[in-house]
Amino acid sequence: MAPISSAQPSLPLERAAARTSAAGTDFFSPDYVSARARFRAAALRAGAALDALPLAARGPHDESLTIDFAWLGTRRPRRVMLHISGVHGTEAFAGSAVQLALLAAPPPLPADGALILVHVLNPYGMAWLRRANEHNVDLNRNFHLDNGIWTGAPPLYKRLDALLNPASPPARDAFALRLAAAGLRHGVRAVRQAIAHGQHRYPRGLFYGGAELQPGPRLFIDWLQAQLGSAEAVFAIDLHTGLGPHAGDTLMVEPGVGTAPLPVLSRALQRPITGGVMAPSAYTVRGSLGGALPRLLPDVRVEFVLQEIGTWSTLRVLHALREENRCHLHGNGGPDHPAKQRLREALCPASPAWREAAVAHGCDLVYRAAGWLFRGNTA
Ligand SMILES: [Zn+2]
Repeated sequence: MAPISSAQPSLPLERAAARTSAAGTDFFSPDYVSARARFRAAALRAGAALDALPLAARGPHDESLTIDFAWLGTRRPRRVMLHISGVHGTEAFAGSAVQLALLAAPPPLPADGALILVHVLNPYGMAWLRRANEHNVDLNRNFHLDNGIWTGAPPLYKRLDALLNPASPPARDAFALRLAAAGLRHGVRAVRQAIAHGQHRYPRGLFYGGAELQPGPRLFIDWLQAQLGSAEAVFAIDLHTGLGPHAGDTLMVEPGVGTAPLPVLSRALQRPITGGVMAPSAYTVRGSLGGALPRLLPDVRVEFVLQEIGTWSTLRVLHALREENRCHLHGNGGPDHPAKQRLREALCPASPAWREAAVAHGCDLVYRAAGWLFRGNTA
């Protein structure tokens, strides 16, 4: 085992986990601006180096938006624990809370190791309470590294477009019934897959993957390759919310991504892990961040785990996404609108029990992954 840097806290993992979960709700911020300020202040308190990538997009009060980084440990790391929050804007509330908790009680780092926290990859989405970015792009459908694949949509999406994406402000229109009818007609699994797969034909629709690489991902990719391209091993965790059992967490890997075989990774994390295709409630996705990582860091041993913390039913989450999209594109779009607030609840429940569980799950996974990575078992 490599020596532990004396500059880092060396709390046993269990103690650190207990310390953070006890005050899990305290780490949640009410909005993007305060989350960012708290993240930067906590990073400085923890002795982390800070970095920020500014975006041209603005927040609802004309505030500037940045992707922020906190870097703990050596600046020339051989092994890196990379934690990413807010690929989907509204899901960043939980991700930001987990990162604040990690800054309060980081895992022990060896002399050749670093913990890098990427705070809110989609700050526009967090600031405006939406999942997509400033161009209505779902960033986890946007990491295409080849040209010529920015077109098309699942054939069934075309038939669902009018139901999913009405060009009108939020209103009651029997969405649940009509969706159930579509499920009966086409099969529930086929409908779910067609919706969530990602599409490039309906720029105002849900799960739109964009027509080009978006500014946030472009900046992030450049940063990642410049900073981590010569590392030996990177273990990336991408935290999401909304899928799976309420207040439980589900770990998923991208098929074909990752150096360690799934059983090895599962043993290392002491958790079951599913491939995206295998999970009963999940679906396959095109253009995901996890799918792109090994190609972005071709000389690095990459492990990638997507952590989903469950909130409410798939129907409730989808309905909230639909109404928020109508509000943003066809209504007043302000973050105080009930449709925005309902999406926040759908992806970041207000209940203290959920929030404590979210922070505990988020920290626990990082502690386990860091414990494994920094013991050297990266192959
Ligand atoms: Zn997500």
